[in-house]
Amino acid sequence: MKFGETYTEFLHKEKIRFSENCSHVEYKRLKNVLKTCQNCSHESSAAQGQEVCDQAFFTELMKEVSDIALCFSLRVRHLLHLHVATGAQRYLLRLRQCFVNDQQAMVEKGRMLIEYVTMNAIAIRKILEKYDKIHSSENGKLFKSKMRAQHIEILQSPWLIELGAFYLNLDGLDDEELNEVSGRFSCDLDAAPPTITLMLPDNLKMEYDLTCAVCLETVFNPYALSCGHLFCKSCACAAASVFIFQGPKSAGLDAKCPLCREAGVFAKAVHMLELDLLLKTRCKDYWKERYNAERTEIVKQTKEFWDMQAKYAVAMCNLPSTKDATDVSIATMLSGIQVSRVELLDEVQVRAINIANGKNLPETTTLMFESIGTGLGPFYLDCHLLFILNFNFG
Ligand SMILES: [Zn+2]
Ligand SMILES: [Zn+2]
Ligand SMILES: [Zn+2]
Repeated sequence: MKFGETYTEFLHKEKIRFSENCSHVEYKRLKNVLKTCQNCSHESSAAQGQEVCDQAFFTELMKEVSDIALCFSLRVRHLLHLHVATGAQRYLLRLRQCFVNDQQAMVEKGRMLIEYVTMNAIAIRKILEKYDKIHSSENGKLFKSKMRAQHIEILQSPWLIELGAFYLNLDGLDDEELNEVSGRFSCDLDAAPPTITLMLPDNLKMEYDLTCAVCLETVFNPYALSCGHLFCKSCACAAASVFIFQGPKSAGLDAKCPLCREAGVFAKAVHMLELDLLLKTRCKDYWKERYNAERTEIVKQTKEFWDMQAKYAVAMCNLPSTKDATDVSIATMLSGIQVSRVELLDEVQVRAINIANGKNLPETTTLMFESIGTGLGPFYLDCHLLFILNFNFG
């Protein structure tokens, strides 16, 4: 079967399977654009003709590819959130799913996502090759590097690695369909370099290096920056000059990737929880060792942070999540700083304070500490008043 037909069949299947609309490469339409090119024979004419055609073709393709990359990351994020969610969060999510056999459903959904990304990647490759053949140009090839620069090369997406790690994490369970998918994925964490290998449909083999370019060890608590490079959380934070408990996403816009030196790649960093889980189960000793080292470093950094804040009666610390806030509280106790009170505000509460008091505090999880021997600041009282009001009005 020709690829065009296989692809049409795939699109048809996709339409039935997904209620939500997802972007695809308009393979047929782009092919038709190229057909008209064949007739207009502008390869021999001046560069002007080429420009018109380039615009119609590449603008559309670029839009489709970035939509696909976005759609893929959202869908994988949604799927894996279900898997790594813990405690009450997981319970609530499951409740919402009406107790369907979620493992089986997740395996199936993941398989469809892999097919989605592979089919589209092949379609992109084929259409670019076709473009270059017709125009005897290099523009198709150049477009590939453009995709890389825009971080929309879908086969390099950290979410694809996460999906692979997800299957390897489920491995060992007795499920025929699961084994069929996960049998095509493997990881060798003791090799140099440590790798995860995905055999995708159509014999597409993808290999990902799991070395952190900063500490040169296997990544621990890994984050993928927008440029696609993987680092340990602590290494990424150190490179961006932020505290570990603040997380890589708190880095300034001018912070650069330690490997490719691209700026602005921290804000949308992806925390790779499945990959972390894979390392935790397959390299137990290494993981534990790195875990303890990170804890120690967090305690040290917390002390540094509070020392910096010591001149205030009430110190405030903005954090990415409630879990980080818990970590910082524990680390603060461990570091021996004398605190008389700790208050935790979530983003909704901070927003309420901003509205009620005309403040402009960052609306994120915030910890407030009052050190021993100081009075309550006026701001602190504001908050308390607000809490009381909140409780009264339910
Ligand atoms: Zn053309
Ligand atoms: Zn590292
Ligand atoms: Zn990079």
